[in-house]
Amino acid sequence: MNFDLTEEQKIWKKIVHEFAEDVLRPKAREVDEKEEFNWEAVRKGGPVGLLGMNIPEEYGGSNVDAISNAIAMEEFGWGCGSTALAFTAHNGLGTAPIANYGSEELKKKWSPLVASGKNKLGSLALTEPGAGSDIQGGMLTRAEKDGGEWVINGSKMWNTNASIAEYIITLVRTDPKGGSKSLSMILVPTDAKGLSIAPAEKKMGLRGSPTHGVTYDNVRVPLGNLIGPEGRGLQQTLATLDAGRISIGAISIGLARGALEASVAYARERKAFGQSISEFQAIQFKIANMEMEIEVARNYIYKAAWLKDQGRPYSKEAAIAKLYATEMAERVTYEAIQIHGGYGYSREYPVERMYRDARLMTIGEGTSEIQRLVISRHVFAG
Ligand SMILES: Cc1cc2nc3c(=O)[nH]c(=O)nc-3n(C[C@H](O)[C@H](O)[C@H](O)COP(=O)(O)OP(=O)(O)OC[C@H]3O[C@@H](n4cnc5c(N)ncnc54)[C@H](O)[C@@H]3O)c2cc1C
Repeated sequence: MNFDLTEEQKIWKKIVHEFAEDVLRPKAREVDEKEEFNWEAVRKGGPVGLLGMNIPEEYGGSNVDAISNAIAMEEFGWGCGSTALAFTAHNGLGTAPIANYGSEELKKKWSPLVASGKNKLGSLALTEPGAGSDIQGGMLTRAEKDGGEWVINGSKMWNTNASIAEYIITLVRTDPKGGSKSLSMILVPTDAKGLSIAPAEKKMGLRGSPTHGVTYDNVRVPLGNLIGPEGRGLQQTLATLDAGRISIGAISIGLARGALEASVAYARERKAFGQSISEFQAIQFKIANMEMEIEVARNYIYKAAWLKDQGRPYSKEAAIAKLYATEMAERVTYEAIQIHGGYGYSREYPVERMYRDARLMTIGEGTSEIQRLVISRHVFAG
């Protein structure tokens, strides 16, 4: 594996970093405090390809490789955790299933619309009030055929972007008998009759990223809104989550990097016992550990992304990358607050927000416990 970025990837990194610095960072605190979404990021991100990273060029996307996607997600996480989550929910969850499994008609109709930045985004609803990790066994949302339409009933929970989305790709049970071939993905436009989006959840962090409960009351959509073959929803979901895990890990690296940079700047300035706290070995060692963990996590994220780009299996590596990077971000943001002392606990400094934002990363797109299950299954399978 070659750890050097290509010239194209280096240019991409510069573009995305500048975007994060100019459009995300300045508003990160405001979107968190006001619990508002950063629409400017969508309007400005669309034209530079940040909303079409998983969409082929013929459908209006930039279709970047997996390493470039990880680079972008790290920069987004560095800029603003909330907007980073909205962008990964859009790119990885909301657009990738259409690009990978959708019909020509769906690709033509929806992909250019949500990649442009002129409209709303995409989203994916898997989780339900009573089922998250156990999506296969516990899912209750049903879709039945009636004439030329699907009729959908049920409810979803924790749907990122629902209120700022053109559509919600919804995982539904199409075969009541159950089993691994009983689930399917269906695209539901957010203006469909019978679809209700609840007010945004009041969250601990990522407060500029709207998350909603959604209910489906006899929602009717054309049969052609099925994404992929009927009964393949579980397999499509698992593959979508493998890729999504690299992105969540990369966002975590961005959050941790932001916290480290803030800690270094603070440690240089702050004086105690007549000297800069950066001269205390205890602080130096914390900084060294933070740097080490970020470097290790990034290298592993790139490895998982590289495997994906090679078309090789990467499910175990994506789980390791997510597990390590997300738990690493918790440790790093924790230490960042410690280095800031009392000021770290204040909203005047960004590290408390980064700490709150990082907390979700070990839960969304598969909890740490689920990552350990995935990894151990691979190990036992030999
Ligand atoms: C801010 C936010 C945004 C989200 N965005 C989306 C989204 O856009 N779309 C979407 O579909 N979902 C989304 N989610 C949902 C998220 O993916 C789920 O919360 C997550 O998968 C866990 O599911 P759960 O909450 O039902 O927890 P549960 O599955 O009920 O788990 C509870 C606890 O039990 C543990 N556990 C469960 N099963 C096992 C097992 N077999 N072995 C060991 N431990 C186990 C879990 O690890 C966890 O600690 C979001 C959640 C949040 C908080």
